[in-house]
Amino acid sequence: MFNLFSEQDENKFTWESIGDVIDGRRNLGENMPVFVYRLFQFTIKDELAKRYGNEATVDIFRKAGELAGKEFANHLLDLSLPFNEFVAHLQSVLEESKIGILRVEKFDPDTGEAVLTVGEDLDCSGLPITGETVCNYDEGFLAGVLKVYTQKEYVVTEVDCWATGSRVCRFEASVKSQESEQNG
Ligand SMILES: [Zn+2]
Repeated sequence: MFNLFSEQDENKFTWESIGDVIDGRRNLGENMPVFVYRLFQFTIKDELAKRYGNEATVDIFRKAGELAGKEFANHLLDLSLPFNEFVAHLQSVLEESKIGILRVEKFDPDTGEAVLTVGEDLDCSGLPITGETVCNYDEGFLAGVLKVYTQKEYVVTEVDCWATGSRVCRFEASVKSQESEQNG
């Protein structure tokens, strides 16, 4: 059964869904080539776009990325660190995980707005240039990490991408204003 748009809102995915890779792949190990990841991701994207259209596909990738970012933050990051140390820690975990090389270009402590770049991005570095930003999964992923760390409703938008001709992906992150909903 594959019912993508079912009413069910609960996530079935948990960190445990990944399983015990070390035990399961005693000879092959934990790593695999980037092309395998991209083959998987881009063929799924293609099939989703055919069935549901581009807009829905982008939304699915963002939501899936956000779930991944939240689980990643909750399981691999030390959320008790102060901001600057947290950023350095996030940079090293992203690099160790071979997701990409994170830099914070700008951060406004008053508004929480940030501009982040990711170099050698797992999703897009080296792709043919199409003029479109393609890292919707990363947009969600970064938003998920920021949401878990700050407890604020972050929205992350990619403004530059390898696929638009940039050497790094650049993401603008801002906090969704929801003052009316927040009463302490
Ligand atoms: Zn990109």
